[in-house]
Amino acid sequence: NEDVFKKVISHAKEFGFVFPSSEIYDGLSATYDYAQNGVELKNNIKQYWWMAMVQMHENIVGLDAAIFMHPTTWKASGHVDAFNDPLIDNKDSKKRYRADVLVEDHMAKIEAKIQKDVDKGKKRFGDDFDEEQFRATNPNVLRRVAEMDKIREELKRVQEEEDLPGFKALIEDLGIVCPVSGSKNWTEVRQFNLMFGTELGSVAGDAATIYLRPETAQGIFVNYLNVQKTGRMKLPFGIAQIGKAFRNEIVARQFIFRMREFEQMEMQYFIKPGTQMKWYEYWKEERMKWHKALGLGDDNYRFHDHIKLAHYADAAADIEFKYPFGFKELEGIHSRTDFDLGGHEKESGKKLRYFDPETNASYVPYVLETSIGLDRMFLAVLSASFKEEQLEDGSERVVLNIPPALAPVKAAVLPLVKKDGLPEKAREIIDTLKFDHNCQYEEKDSIGKRYRRQDAIGTPYCITVDHQTLEDNTVTIRERDSMEQERVAIADLERIIGDRVSM
Ligand code: ATP
Repeated sequence: NEDVFKKVISHAKEFGFVFPSSEIYDGLSATYDYAQNGVELKNNIKQYWWMAMVQMHENIVGLDAAIFMHPTTWKASGHVDAFNDPLIDNKDSKKRYRADVLVEDHMAKIEAKIQKDVDKGKKRFGDDFDEEQFRATNPNVLRRVAEMDKIREELKRVQEEEDLPGFKALIEDLGIVCPVSGSKNWTEVRQFNLMFGTELGSVAGDAATIYLRPETAQGIFVNYLNVQKTGRMKLPFGIAQIGKAFRNEIVARQFIFRMREFEQMEMQYFIKPGTQMKWYEYWKEERMKWHKALGLGDDNYRFHDHIKLAHYADAAADIEFKYPFGFKELEGIHSRTDFDLGGHEKESGKKLRYFDPETNASYVPYVLETSIGLDRMFLAVLSASFKEEQLEDGSERVVLNIPPALAPVKAAVLPLVKKDGLPEKAREIIDTLKFDHNCQYEEKDSIGKRYRRQDAIGTPYCITVDHQTLEDNTVTIRERDSMEQERVAIADLERIIGDRVSM
């Protein structure tokens, strides 16, 4: 599957979806640019999310806050003190790692050994094999499970107590070696803050340090009362925002999955204190439904409930997606309580209370958050749609069967030949469709080659103009996935395409 992932990455580049940033200078690590087809796909994902969250909910409204915020924001939110990753360097290779990831990778290796034991058992006992029974009784498996439990417990302890020497000791006791040099020569573990700082204007010093926001959420929190009052919103209500966020990730890898500059689509739902579990369950289900409705395959999603909670949450779950490199977090659903609004009240000295007209009481609302990475969603769509197909005539094709509503180009209009008035006719058709849909005109190469090129960027419909078109004003429509063609009247095209690609 790593193989599939490599193919997806090179396909994304070859067909104008994603380029490495500033490539002529050999790129910048973990930074990417969205190209002509990528930006269309990205915009369509945004629109699809915005429609589901804002347009379809009477009580959710949008916001577009600035990336720069008053520096005290990040003190109130806990990011200055707690938005850290534990970092360790290998002295020989000079490579830098996240200490927790090193331990987790080590545990994954033990897990793999357990799986090997199980597979061996399966082979030996054949049809009579009872996996549950085997796991509960096999001494090798039991020993390894106990070992894992011990490591997990110690990892949790050093993280919670921020016991950095203990963290280093854990790594050394486990005999973890540097994946690059194979050496066990580690530095101390230290906390590394993930926020990018910069200076405002020409003033130097701590007071002037401002940060690139590490999440879009705080822009919503500091504005919540302005929105509530000017929009005359009543609890529960939500504020949704799409925008860039920045994190100085220690190990940025896996293409656009983990970047230092990325985009989030977040919705903060303001609720009455005490109702958070109800809304937590509600939004977990709602968001899962949204994902599955897209049709990338229900088996590609699962929940992962958090045991170790972030500094702001009293309940949290991820929606994980099955990427080519395994199940990984795509979206987080967090019950943030009054952590953020309470923090902002304290730091700003301003009352951030909601007056509840039903009970005549004022209180700081609780918050339920849904937070999805736009780039991770993009990668989910791209990798689930990437198909290499063997056709009946023995040839092969690469097709992206992107859900039509998200496809960068909705229809390609192709004159069969470059003469006899067919190009002019094709342009006429584009002129009627282009107001509603992103269309493409292509006349170069054989029709078969042009179909393949459209398949490779995920265009759901190819409209072909041929000599019969000039006689009876009909064209063929070829559907991307089935490759079936039907003949329809030009007059019906707007309706047909519109019906099939709408959100
Ligand atoms: P991870 O555990 O993968 O680092 P996280 O739990 O820190 O993610 P959140 O703080 O919950 O992530 O952020 C919400 C969403 O933002 C994530 O579900 C993810 O989709 C996205 N996201 C977070 N960090 C990155 C990143 N470095 N690159 C791309 N997307 C990201």
